[in-house]
Amino acid sequence: MGLPARLIEGYDAFRTGRLPAEQNRYRELAERGQSPEIMVIGCCDSRVSPEVIFDARPGELFVVRNVANLVPPYSPDDTYHGVSAALEFAVGALRVKHIVVLGHALCGGVRAFAEESAPLSPGDFIGKWMSLIAPAAERLGPRGDVPPADYLARLEQASIANTLDNLLTFPRLRRLIERGRVTLHGAYFAVATGELLVLDPQSGQFGPVPTG
Ligand SMILES: [Zn+2]
Repeated sequence: MGLPARLIEGYDAFRTGRLPAEQNRYRELAERGQSPEIMVIGCCDSRVSPEVIFDARPGELFVVRNVANLVPPYSPDDTYHGVSAALEFAVGALRVKHIVVLGHALCGGVRAFAEESAPLSPGDFIGKWMSLIAPAAERLGPRGDVPPADYLARLEQASIANTLDNLLTFPRLRRLIERGRVTLHGAYFAVATGELLVLDPQSGQFGPVPTG
């Protein structure tokens, strides 16, 4: 079995279009290695590709994606920590200057958390993973009569803030942030409109990104 036809078509378009334009850059990146200054922590959602949203060229973004753009708190133990490993590499080896947590509207992971009432089973990976946003839900408080779509948007945004808090639990990263060597950012992509909101650390609110 070969690759899906869609991928072959896409690669062909890349090979004849973008590759010639970027060939020198690829060669240079291969020789010198990558040195992206920005790490993006995004969701697996197929509509929210950081490279597309930020019009990134090869070598510019160090991206880790997982369900609902989460970072588990620092927890040095003998289990497997994919996000922590990516973070360690980005901060320790690449020395990125910015870390952007990119959340988005209509996030299936956040919806799964908000709608899930059944107890977790040992094989319920999403349920367990999404329990990471429980502190964000607690911070929001009871739903009251907030319409479901509005509640989910608030939860998606509160979860971004919670993930930024979790990043501060990594001792080395925290020191770099305190010294001004690394800056954290929260962003939220609206999907339908393509609008990008950014978190204002002072007000704790998301607002439109300043664009030219
Ligand atoms: Zn998502």
